[in-house]
Amino acid sequence: MKPNTNRREFIRTTAALTMSAALAPELLRAAEPPRREKMIGMQIGAVSFVDEGVEPTLDILQTKGAVNTLFLTTFTYGRGLAGRQIPGQPFPDHGKQESDEKTFHGGNYATPHPEFYANTVLKQTRAPEFPGLDVVATVLPAARKRGMKLFCSIEDVFRNDIPGVKELSEVDLQGRKGGGLCLYHPDVRAFWTGLATDLCKSYDIDGLLFFNERNGPLLNALGASHAQSIASSRVTCFCEHHQRAGKAAGIDCERAREGFVKLDQFVQNALADKRPGDGYFVEFWRLLIDYPEITAWDRLFDAAKHQVLAEVTAAVKGVRPGLQVGFHIEHVNSFNPLFRATRNYADLATKADFLKVVVYNNCGGERYANFIRNVGSTVFRDVPKDELLRFNNHLLNYGNEAGLDDLAVAGLSPDYVARETERALKGVQGKCPILPGIDIGIPTGKNSRKASPEDTYAATRAALQTGAHGVIFSRKYSEMQLATIEAAGKAVREFGK
Ligand SMILES: [Zn+2]
Repeated sequence: MKPNTNRREFIRTTAALTMSAALAPELLRAAEPPRREKMIGMQIGAVSFVDEGVEPTLDILQTKGAVNTLFLTTFTYGRGLAGRQIPGQPFPDHGKQESDEKTFHGGNYATPHPEFYANTVLKQTRAPEFPGLDVVATVLPAARKRGMKLFCSIEDVFRNDIPGVKELSEVDLQGRKGGGLCLYHPDVRAFWTGLATDLCKSYDIDGLLFFNERNGPLLNALGASHAQSIASSRVTCFCEHHQRAGKAAGIDCERAREGFVKLDQFVQNALADKRPGDGYFVEFWRLLIDYPEITAWDRLFDAAKHQVLAEVTAAVKGVRPGLQVGFHIEHVNSFNPLFRATRNYADLATKADFLKVVVYNNCGGERYANFIRNVGSTVFRDVPKDELLRFNNHLLNYGNEAGLDDLAVAGLSPDYVARETERALKGVQGKCPILPGIDIGIPTGKNSRKASPEDTYAATRAALQTGAHGVIFSRKYSEMQLATIEAAGKAVREFGK
């Protein structure tokens, strides 16, 4: 009797299972829309796969960091996304414990296919460090086998010894070549669309993440960023392509140049402690009123930057509409209200498939302090810097962060991560996913905050609990401690559902 019961039971169960298998998808869909898995990304460069092996590295990313998406540094000449730990900083507890300062070069770590670069002088960009290695071709199949996504990270950072680069350089206020590559130069635009098309056609990737942290001339003149010095006499760009674009936009280039010369004088006077009769802020504001061409020229830079992003997106979608393009939104957008005013999340949401919003909180303390000291030495020179910081906190809707003297040591808080994530989520109004960039071991000064596992856990948790669609661990695996990656992964497993 038992066997019979069991058999009847078995038949009933099987039938039920078959039924539910047939019905389940519909029922599930009716009950609840299927949830998209959160995107847990890791920024990583070629050197890590070379030093540590593809499979062991992917094992670490998956098991420790709960990573399901690679943001593979494919094009840059910068050390923020590529190369081993930067010189002068301690190596993490994995990878080669040897500086690559002498061997690092940068460029395209995949294989540039010449047909995509027909319309640009930038034809020789292949990174020379690892002859014979195509990092995308090497890593992609291994990632796919594990069900991981792969985006190629491309960054607008060049060096001046690349064949063709000098012809494309920006021209500064005094007619000198310098700065980066002019985004109005047709060869530069053709390079970016060529690179994007090449990567998307030549490899079965999921899309691109585009990095461009360059500022317009107004912010550069004021040093209104975290990393830069104040270089008001070197602002760009006044090249022929820029002048043509300015003319087309109805801006008087000579007036713009005159305005920036006066701005340069204002900045230099401020740094020399020569106070204008009406005070620094009033003098600055008067300059903007007298020379509306200053902000117009600044906007011209942003327009080019966004035009390149739009052209890259169009090129990518032209290969396959399902491919995705994300934009990296730089740190200065978080703590500089002047920059914030030039970025509109609702607008950005219409241009990108996702936004990686920088909310780096450990290095954020040091960077924010630098920004306050920069603007506090010119435009807001009349305001004691600690008061300026508190005032700025109000403008930015920051909570209870450390005072100026303690900020670099304290870093910014997980509350900062939550507030900035929330601002981005509200800004895009559901039109595009927000993936906060989480600071894991981003290098800081000797006495400044270093990311601890607890810090990283708290920041990752804050971003996910606020409702982010995922996170991207930044800046690069080769500067992260394993315990810190593990702490981030723990937060993902607990709060990333
Ligand atoms: Zn130009």
